[in-house]
Amino acid sequence: MTEPEAPPTDFVRDIVRGDVADEKNDGKVATRFPPEPNGYLHIGHAKAICVDFGIAREFGGTCNLRFDDTNPTKESTEYVDAIKEDVRWLGFEWDGEFFASDYFEQLYEWAVHLVREGKAYVDDLPLEEVRRMRGSLTEPGEPSPHRDRSVEENLDLFARMRAGEFANGEKTLRAKIDMAAANTNLRDPVLYRILHSPHHRTGDTWCIYPMYDWAHGQSDAIEGITHSICTLEFEIHRPLYEWFLEQLKPLGVAQPRQIEFARLNLTYTMMSKRRLLELVEGGHVAGWDDPRMPTLGGLRRRGYTPESITRFATDLGVTKFNSTTDMVVLENALRNHLNKVAPRFMAVLRPLKVVVTNYPEGESEELEAVNNPEDESAGTRTVPFSRVLYIERDDFMEDAPRKFFRLSVGREVRLRYAYFVTCTDVVKDESGEIVELHCTYDPATRGGDAPDGRKVKGTLHWVSAEHAVPAEVRLYDHLFATENPAAEEDWLEHLNPTSLEVVEDAMLEPNLAGQEPGFRCQFERLGYFAVDPDTTDEKPVFNRAVTLRDSWAKAKKKGG
Ligand code: ATP
Ligand code: MG
Repeated sequence: MTEPEAPPTDFVRDIVRGDVADEKNDGKVATRFPPEPNGYLHIGHAKAICVDFGIAREFGGTCNLRFDDTNPTKESTEYVDAIKEDVRWLGFEWDGEFFASDYFEQLYEWAVHLVREGKAYVDDLPLEEVRRMRGSLTEPGEPSPHRDRSVEENLDLFARMRAGEFANGEKTLRAKIDMAAANTNLRDPVLYRILHSPHHRTGDTWCIYPMYDWAHGQSDAIEGITHSICTLEFEIHRPLYEWFLEQLKPLGVAQPRQIEFARLNLTYTMMSKRRLLELVEGGHVAGWDDPRMPTLGGLRRRGYTPESITRFATDLGVTKFNSTTDMVVLENALRNHLNKVAPRFMAVLRPLKVVVTNYPEGESEELEAVNNPEDESAGTRTVPFSRVLYIERDDFMEDAPRKFFRLSVGREVRLRYAYFVTCTDVVKDESGEIVELHCTYDPATRGGDAPDGRKVKGTLHWVSAEHAVPAEVRLYDHLFATENPAAEEDWLEHLNPTSLEVVEDAMLEPNLAGQEPGFRCQFERLGYFAVDPDTTDEKPVFNRAVTLRDSWAKAKKKGG
């Protein structure tokens, strides 16, 4: 650890602190992170994870991982396993691991209790009809003709729902609250629906499944959660959350507290798992872990560090106001972290051959290079230098303007860690394209400084041709071309057609050979890169995690 940081403060922590001070729940703090296993976690979930686990940590409490698995048709064990991997990767370990499906029997018994108390009834209306008759913000709802069934009849019908006597959609169990309530969530919400679908954990045991609202608060209560932190869209559900718990209070059921905060939104991407699934299934990306995806798996593959993500999430803070964060903020978090920890290497993405005509043929030498100027302990390495080199095509210009501080005929530049070189002439092919540069080097400038004190304006990266390792490098840009694609009806039309550029024949310094997937480094002057799982010994594959500077902002400015 570096300097100790002041723990974050925000309105959620203020509430928790107040409850602890008031000795509520015997001063204990218990939170949970409750993903539905219907997709992979994304950067928005990382924010929730940092809040849920972070608060538990800060208050000496516990945080459970609870899978909210009440929707059997969309959920799977594949997602459960991936979610666990991602939470651990972020650096968090849960206290208890639970599934809402663990509580199906208890939830059923409590539903029976509501029926007995005259607080729930079986309805025969199809779900669409229930929805239609719920009314609107300006009109009260219409009561169902089945609303006043006797307790006996309701008990019997509910038991038969469970026993599988009815088809999907034929019946629901609804709470009997208030069809004229200002909050439409209180207009006799559905607790159970019939769904003859096998569940990834309970198999064929159940054909009725609890709705989110009925499952969530009661699961919190069963686990002894004290603070059930969720996102703002659940704010209008809170009266219902509390109503259910209130009905069960006489049974000695605990009374957790729901607190809502604003979800994370990012520019040029979207967070909805349903839509991310559409991107995957439609083949618009290579999978859930495509490095352009906002999923944790995608970010990891791209080269993001868990530290940069948790730092990003923590720095954003927790508020009650929905807003959209610029993607640059996330990218900067990665730059800041990798700047401190990533070793530097030289790699040339678009090689242009350079022959150092006064360097002896067949010879080479090892030059010392600094691994990380931000971290002395990272030490040095050596890189081979020889007569034939590659530099970046962009670093040469034939009719260069005065301010072009790179290479041109007659100009002198420094090759990083090596020598000053001066371009003497160019070789072109029949089409007039430059295929080779001729340079001379000044042996007195070894290491990169001239003993006579003469200066050069430019320093270029390079690799020795005979030692270079050819590699594939994947360059990524925003997945979407519009800032807020989620707001677009035809959001798929807004995919950025140039979000992936594959460079087939990049040249790496030999120290980059054989690095394993997950290895992250800086290619000097180009950005931060990470080895992709597609890498092989024959052909290393690197992903560009992020450029050194925010080139998008620059481009936007230029474009007006
Ligand atoms: P999606 O809309 O992407 O499917 P969700 O809210 O349905 O997301 P869940 O698996 O139900 O996903 O979410 C688990 C937890 O993560 C919930 O507490 C939810 O509020 C939180 N969460 C989801 N998305 C975000 C986000 N963008 N920002 C902050 N928290 C989020
Ligand atoms: Mg959800």
